[in-house]
Amino acid sequence: MDFQLTDEQRELQGIARRFARSELPALARKLEETDEPLPLTMRKRFAEMGFLGINLPEVFGGMGLGHLEALLVLEQFAMISPAVAWPVFESATGPVRTLHHYGSESLKQRFIPAVVRGEKVLAVSMSEPAAGTALTDLMTSGRFEGNEIVLNGQKRWCSGAGHSDAYIVYCRLSDAPGAKAIGAVIVEKERNGVSFGRPERLMGFRGIPSADIFFDGVRVPRDNLIVPAGNFSKLMSAFGLERCGNATMSLGIAAAALEDAIAYAQERRQFGKSIVDFQAVQLKIADMAMRVEAARLLIYRAAANAAQGLPSVIESSIAKCFANEMVRDVAINGMQIMGGYGYSREYPMEQRVRDSFAWGIAGGTTDVQKTNITAALIGRRFNQRS
Ligand SMILES: Cc1cc2nc3c(=O)[nH]c(=O)nc-3n(C[C@H](O)[C@H](O)[C@H](O)COP(=O)(O)OP(=O)(O)OC[C@H]3O[C@@H](n4cnc5c(N)ncnc54)[C@H](O)[C@@H]3O)c2cc1C
Repeated sequence: MDFQLTDEQRELQGIARRFARSELPALARKLEETDEPLPLTMRKRFAEMGFLGINLPEVFGGMGLGHLEALLVLEQFAMISPAVAWPVFESATGPVRTLHHYGSESLKQRFIPAVVRGEKVLAVSMSEPAAGTALTDLMTSGRFEGNEIVLNGQKRWCSGAGHSDAYIVYCRLSDAPGAKAIGAVIVEKERNGVSFGRPERLMGFRGIPSADIFFDGVRVPRDNLIVPAGNFSKLMSAFGLERCGNATMSLGIAAAALEDAIAYAQERRQFGKSIVDFQAVQLKIADMAMRVEAARLLIYRAAANAAQGLPSVIESSIAKCFANEMVRDVAINGMQIMGGYGYSREYPMEQRVRDSFAWGIAGGTTDVQKTNITAALIGRRFNQRS
């Protein structure tokens, strides 16, 4: 077992760090103020630098590296803000990966190179008003008619809704009960019958648009099918990587909070000395550092063991759950160390506190992750319905 990154991994991490720190902080502040997504010009810059295809195969224009490399880059962007990191998250660990693993060759060719070039953004739309944790209760349907699929239904909480060019929509594709009917279809934004609800006003997550999506008799070609009914477990297995991405967003926010807290504690003087000389502050910083390091190792383990395949349920769930709880504690400690300045909107710490709470809800709540962890440990799933 080797706990050192390779020279190449360090170099990539350094490139991402320098880029993120020189080009993104002012933009991140602006997106936080305006609640606008990353502009296309900057997404194209990400693409030019190769940041949107790190772990995607070269045949699609990617760099063909492993998930660990992608997460090393994502962490550096997430240290600036989730909004600027979002396109990296989506291409490295989000819906693009579902398409990459399960889509037909023609579907992959239609979308993945465009994502890597920064021309298109994909989003995933699973949740519905009455189907959150109980995702298999989803009602959106896709009916096969000749060479087309006709979609009807309503989705909720879709990150990227309205802004993204296409949506991976989980829907019922047969009359079978529960999970057995669920498959996924890709739906382009401009299809007739697609519309969006009003933008959600979330506690954090500014610069990542969220809204309901309505599908009213939307017709897409049969070619847009990613997986037919009966493949819910496949869709969920692609989520192992999404969990690592979600955990890395948590890690980036926490690592930035720790870095700022360490700097601030040495600069800020009270009672004639730096506040870092007070033991209570020392203990908080140590506690933050221990948690950040532990989360990082859990994420690296899940990613390194997966190489270019899909991370295991247990390793990705443990990493996500731990990182989701860790970031809430670390961000709050960071805010406390900065006193009034931590609570002020003039500094990024209060944003980190607000953003920190999203990740343990998005992509499956921490409580459900824990249920999955225990299920994996004992080798059977728990029936939530009886
Ligand atoms: C910031 C953010 C981004 C999101 N992005 C997306 C997205 O891009 N696409 C998408 O499809 N969805 C997205 N979601 C939705 C997200 O996946 C759901 O919010 C999540 O799955 C929880 O569903 P819910 O909100 O309906 O809560 P509920 O399922 O109603 O849960 C409410 C509470 O009950 C608990 N609970 C429910 N069932 C159980 C159980 N069996 N055991 C233990 N506890 C239980 C939960 O843990 C939670 O604490 C996003 C959500 C957020 C907050």
